[in-house]
Amino acid sequence: MSILADYHMHSYHSADSNAKMTDMIESAISKGLKKIAFTEHMDHGFPESEKYKASDWEVNVDSYLYELLCLREKYRDKIDIIFGLEIGMQKSVFKENAITAKEHEFDFVIGSIHMVNGIDTYLPEFFEGKTPKQAMQEYFKTQLENIRQFQNFDVLGHMDYIVRTVPGGESVYNWKDYGDYIEETLKTLIENEKGIELNTSALRKGFSNPNPHKEIIKLYKDLGGEIITIGSDAHKPEDVGSNFDIAEQILKDCGYKYYTYFENRVAMYSKLN
Ligand SMILES: [Zn+2]
Ligand SMILES: [Zn+2]
Repeated sequence: MSILADYHMHSYHSADSNAKMTDMIESAISKGLKKIAFTEHMDHGFPESEKYKASDWEVNVDSYLYELLCLREKYRDKIDIIFGLEIGMQKSVFKENAITAKEHEFDFVIGSIHMVNGIDTYLPEFFEGKTPKQAMQEYFKTQLENIRQFQNFDVLGHMDYIVRTVPGGESVYNWKDYGDYIEETLKTLIENEKGIELNTSALRKGFSNPNPHKEIIKLYKDLGGEIITIGSDAHKPEDVGSNFDIAEQILKDCGYKYYTYFENRVAMYSKLN
């Protein structure tokens, strides 16, 4: 396997994970990975729910960084540990996001859409009163609007994540129905020297494609895109690096010769053998 960098994972510093950072790191080492990026959740303006307070989705960056730096030192001979963030993009919090992204010296920032028009797309509520097509159209449109206005991120996270929550899942999803938004999104990313990620978490949940769909991964390349990180989006140790063999085959099938990793917000490339 030539992909040795998992650039999307969470620990207990994110509200939806209980994993210890050390357990994530040990799992990565046991799987032969050489670099991992923790990308804890920073979702400003997230609504309160039964389970979570709104502030639960805003990582305490100082305590996260402190622990990361200690572990980076401890594991320096075994694995590189990258200081990343997954920032939730929403028009209502551009200012907060801009401040967060500038305030800390992250190595890597994923920009993701979790909320659309004030509703968490993870919740059934988002789909109420809409056909699946209307809901997905709203999602892709919002994603494009967000990346036109906020650019302090390195890769766009799990680009068609909505397929994982839409009632009907893959059976109601044809990315070409939203092809105009998707193509425009990819072109905007390329113009601004931003990347996409190949997020493998859908694969371990039984979907036949990662996020985004492999044809979108190919389209990004065909349009001239070169920046693609690979992430498991693991929230528990056993999921670190999951399905990277499939990810590698998809990249090769789509014509990629390299995958990307980041340090100090700079893209670097590693050859696919
Ligand atoms: Zn996410
Ligand atoms: Zn994530």
